[in-house]
Amino acid sequence: MSISINSEGVKEQIADLATQGFNGAEIATTIDKTNNSTFRRAVYNFLNTYECDQLRGIEADMTDVEQWKKTACNLKNLGLTNKEISLKIFGNDSTASIYKLYTFFKTSIAYNLLQKDVDIELTADEEFRVNELKILYWDIETSPCVSYHYQHWKVNIRQDQAIKQSHLLSVSYSFNDEEPVGFRLNPSEVAKEDDLTLVVNMIEAIEKADIIVGYNSKRFDMKVLNTRALYWGLPPIKPAKHIDLYDQVKKLFRFPSNSLGNVSAYLQLEGKLITDRGLWRRCMEHWNEEECEAALIDMLTYNKQDIEATRDLYYRIRGWTHNPVNIGAITNVKNAVEEYDEEGRLLPKVVTPRCTKCGSDDITPIEGSLNFTTTRGYSIYRCNVESCKGVSRLGSGGNLANCALN
Ligand SMILES: [Zn+2]
Repeated sequence: MSISINSEGVKEQIADLATQGFNGAEIATTIDKTNNSTFRRAVYNFLNTYECDQLRGIEADMTDVEQWKKTACNLKNLGLTNKEISLKIFGNDSTASIYKLYTFFKTSIAYNLLQKDVDIELTADEEFRVNELKILYWDIETSPCVSYHYQHWKVNIRQDQAIKQSHLLSVSYSFNDEEPVGFRLNPSEVAKEDDLTLVVNMIEAIEKADIIVGYNSKRFDMKVLNTRALYWGLPPIKPAKHIDLYDQVKKLFRFPSNSLGNVSAYLQLEGKLITDRGLWRRCMEHWNEEECEAALIDMLTYNKQDIEATRDLYYRIRGWTHNPVNIGAITNVKNAVEEYDEEGRLLPKVVTPRCTKCGSDDITPIEGSLNFTTTRGYSIYRCNVESCKGVSRLGSGGNLANCALN
C-alpha cells in the first residue's frame, strides 16, 4: 500500500524529521521506502506550509517580506482570483505563475498577512473549487422573424419584405449542478429588438466553461448567438468543447421522436414544460405591455426548465456518448500543476487514467477484452460511477482514449 501525506501520523513525522535537520528528499525516502515521486512532491510542498510550521512550533519570519507577497495578499483580501492576481503581479497567468501563488498562499507568511483582513469576499469565479471542471448547460429562446408575404407555401421572402429580424428573447444556463440562472427581455427591449445584454451574458458564461452541453446547440443556439454577437459588433467567442446531445441521440439511439421533450418523456425524466404555440406571439406583442411581460416571464421559466431537462438527459446518457470530447484528458489538464524539486528542476507531470465520459479515476480493466483499431488492440476499462459506467480504452501519454462502439 502506498503512503499518502494524509495517512495517520505522516504529517507529524515529516515535521519531526524537518526539525531534526533532514531535507525534503531525505524525509521522503525515510518515510516511503519505495521512493514514490508523488509522495516526494507532496513532502516538498508540505514543508513550506503554515500547517507544517504549526506542527514544528515555528513562527513565520515577517522581516523583509518581499513586496510581491504583500501585494498578492492585499489583492487576495480584495477578493481577486489567483489568476487575476497573477496577471497584476507577474504580468501573465501561466500555470507556473498561478501555481507559485497557490503554494505561497499556503505559507505562514501569507497566513499572517491575510489575517489582517478577515472578511475576504470571494468572487463568483473563486467559488468554483480549485481545478474543478466547469460544464455549462445552456439554451436560448429566440423571437420569430416577421415579414410581409402574400403566400404561405413555398415563398422566398426578400430582405426588404422583412420587418423584424429574429433576436434573443431569453437565455438560461447552469454550471455543473448549480441552479439554472436566466435573463430575459422586457417589452420595451422587445420593441427595440435590443438583446445585447442577453448576448453578452450568454457569451460570458460560455467563456468561463471548459465544456458546453446543449440540445441541438451546434446547429441552432451557437449559430444564433454568433449571429447576434456579430450584429452587435462583439469579438469572436472564445471556443469551448461542445457536446450537442441532439447529435448523440440521433447517432446512438432510435427514439420515436428526437425532440428534447419526447426523449425526456420516453426516459421518464422530469422533462421539459409544454408551451402553447401562442407564447412566442405574446412575447412579441410588446404593445400589450402587461401580457407581453407575463409571456416573457413564462418564456424564461420554460427556458430554465430546458436546462434541467438537458442536464438530466446528459447524466442519463453520458456513459453512452461517443463524441470527440475526452473529459478524462481535460480533467488531467485542469489538475496539472507545474511542480519543481528542491533544485528547481521541473518534475514530470502526473497523468491519471480517467474515464473519458465523466473524468472519474474510479475505473476497472475489463479482463481479457481488447478494443481493436485498424492496427492493434488496446485494453479497455469500465467506469465504476453508477450514473456513467462508460467504457474507455488505454490511450497514449497515460490518458485513456475514447472508445468506438462500432
Ligand atoms: Zn465515467
